[in-house]
Amino acid sequence: MAEVSIIVPVYNVEKYLSFCLDSLVNQTFKDIEIICVNDGSTDTSPVILEHYARLDKRIKIINKSNGGLSSARNAGMDAAGGKYLSFVDADDFVSHFLVEKARDFIKIGRADFVSFMFYSVIGKHLKMLKHYISFDKAIDGKVITETELPGRFYFEIHPTAWCKFYSSSLINENGLRFKENMIFEDLPFAAEVYLLAKRMVFTNMTPYFYRVLREGSILDKKDAKDLDLVKSFSYVDKIFKEHYKFEKYKNALMHFNMMLAVHDFSKINPEYREKFFYALKDYFSKFDFRAYDGKALEKSKNYRIISLILSCNYSAFCKAVKNYV
Ligand code: UDP
Ligand code: MG
Repeated sequence: MAEVSIIVPVYNVEKYLSFCLDSLVNQTFKDIEIICVNDGSTDTSPVILEHYARLDKRIKIINKSNGGLSSARNAGMDAAGGKYLSFVDADDFVSHFLVEKARDFIKIGRADFVSFMFYSVIGKHLKMLKHYISFDKAIDGKVITETELPGRFYFEIHPTAWCKFYSSSLINENGLRFKENMIFEDLPFAAEVYLLAKRMVFTNMTPYFYRVLREGSILDKKDAKDLDLVKSFSYVDKIFKEHYKFEKYKNALMHFNMMLAVHDFSKINPEYREKFFYALKDYFSKFDFRAYDGKALEKSKNYRIISLILSCNYSAFCKAVKNYV
């Protein structure tokens, strides 16, 4: 049984898959299984997978009908046998030292979760942008518990499933899986992991390369699934409340959610914008903003937009922010 399981959900990524698999088979730490879940691809991705699996026995293929990213990752988790677990999207790629470094952090620190930083890769020419936040020295690479972290910290971690490394016991003992039939599934998963992990490492190392808004990617599609964002906000709030951590993190959660809401509002398919507007109105109207850090809200451009959403109907809002949408 391999020590590390890497789960790769695969759906119509023929242009990028070899790049991803090359980065995985060439890891400096060799005792890995690469579980590729072909989620009903209709392009040549399955042929590429078969080719790589013939060359490298550590590659395992699971074929299933299309069920979306969450269902693919969950199928991979069900099949994973490693002591440690990581997710790499099939259109992304990683540095050859990712597993070795992650394993060192987790073993030396007796941690159950490691979170890396990443580069955003834009376009064919691999233009790279570093994530905008970096951890300060007191946190970077150190083992830390959630209680040691300030409330604002949740705003600083990037709540994706990828560019992270997990002990399988953290995942399996808590029965963690991705919520199916929705996008933004990473947000509740990341919240659970963050609150359940006993010892964590956050590092500024950047061994993950994320392809931003790839043509045909989930976040590039402008469909009704964008409305899932509001659903995911409620799931995340519920998780923080269940762990009695909502009060500590509520300001960070609010700013994070406002940022995502405003960002998505500007890019959502106009066909769904009105529905999204009312879903946001409904969600944000549940909060008493007087109980939040007023100075931070005052400075926030996102809060100004959310306040307008709360005080206007859709057509008045559109008139007020004509240049925005
Ligand atoms: N994916 C999948 N099933 C789907 C859609 C996507 O398994 O129905 C995979 C896809 O191949 C990739 C990962 O899920 O490995 C993330 O998808 P995508 O790159 O489209 O998402 P984004 O980068 O926009 O978050
Ligand atoms: Mg992608």
